[in-house]
Amino acid sequence: MSGLALSDFRRLVVKVGSSLLVDDHGRLNRDWLAGLCDDIANLNRQDHEILVVSSGAIAIGSSILGINKRRARLEDLQAAAAAGQVQLVHAYQEALGRHDITAAQVLLTLDDTENRRRFLNARGTLGKLLERSVVPIINENDTVATEEIRYGDNDRLAARIAQLVMADALILLSDVDGFYTADPAADENAQHIPAVGKISAEMMAMAGATRSDVGTGGMVTKLQAARIATHAGCATVIASGAIQRPLRALGAGARCTVFAAAGTPAAARKQWLAGVHDVKGELRLDDGAVNALSGGSSLLPVGVIAVAGKFRRGDVVRLIDNNGAEIGRGLAEYSDDEALQLVGCQSDEIEATLGYRGRTVMVHVNELVLFDHD
Ligand code: GLU
Repeated sequence: MSGLALSDFRRLVVKVGSSLLVDDHGRLNRDWLAGLCDDIANLNRQDHEILVVSSGAIAIGSSILGINKRRARLEDLQAAAAAGQVQLVHAYQEALGRHDITAAQVLLTLDDTENRRRFLNARGTLGKLLERSVVPIINENDTVATEEIRYGDNDRLAARIAQLVMADALILLSDVDGFYTADPAADENAQHIPAVGKISAEMMAMAGATRSDVGTGGMVTKLQAARIATHAGCATVIASGAIQRPLRALGAGARCTVFAAAGTPAAARKQWLAGVHDVKGELRLDDGAVNALSGGSSLLPVGVIAVAGKFRRGDVVRLIDNNGAEIGRGLAEYSDDEALQLVGCQSDEIEATLGYRGRTVMVHVNELVLFDHD
């Protein structure tokens, strides 16, 4: 049986559920993790970029602190996460270190992906880590995330990360090997669905609320994650991690469900930008900058000749050419005040001009759309 062609995907987010990493007594399954990291190392060697979203902090920490997860209050779980996260990330560092791969811990709260200013910060940091072939090990910052500001489950966090970094595949590893027409543990007639084009309301209803014991995500959260990611141009795979070397197994034909991406990540991003109504300001560009943008470059401060409107970092601004025509839109990396100070500024003058080290670009190429000319 031919497997999933992982080679088709350059940037992959792999989500690891708690139940794979941690046993019922809160002990880390180090052999399994070593196998996963062998797979990651293989993919890394073939020039794939891998980001891991790993659960497990609360499960490990609860056992360290003697907390009964089922009866625990939120602050107990937050304390458990603080104790467990250190061990979790240390285990990844060790397992990846055997392959001379550097691991980096990234802890996020909901605001970091939902607020555009913070979204740019997170994207910048993750991008730099990937440039250096570091594997980010991402989790929710459970120690500070209270109920109202939580993702709550790492399936959704992983989908947001996939969207943030414009990944082309999201692989959700857990104790289920795909989507079924009913809960396979409860219904022997449940049918496995290998490929899904569009997630329907009927499928959401079929997913019910199946839950595994150790983690928090059920099939519903996986479908919600698949919905977010596929709309962002990222194929999503639900696969079993309950085997050694789960990514290699996928490539060799292990059963899974693949949700097709709607277009590419870049197209999805551009479509979103083009449709934003809430445009806050304008940047007028010189001819050199217009040419550079058409050639696929980011907008640098040196190419900006005027700034209008009130905007903050992360707001959408119009890009105007020298004749006053709107040529596109993008997310501003600077506020209007800062942009004004930076008009015509060379990149190496930014720090002296602002008095602090800023970003080199005014609008990043991934965060801009150019309109077609007639
Ligand atoms: N962030 C939680 C942890 O690391 C897991 C959330 C989930 O299982 O989805 O323990």
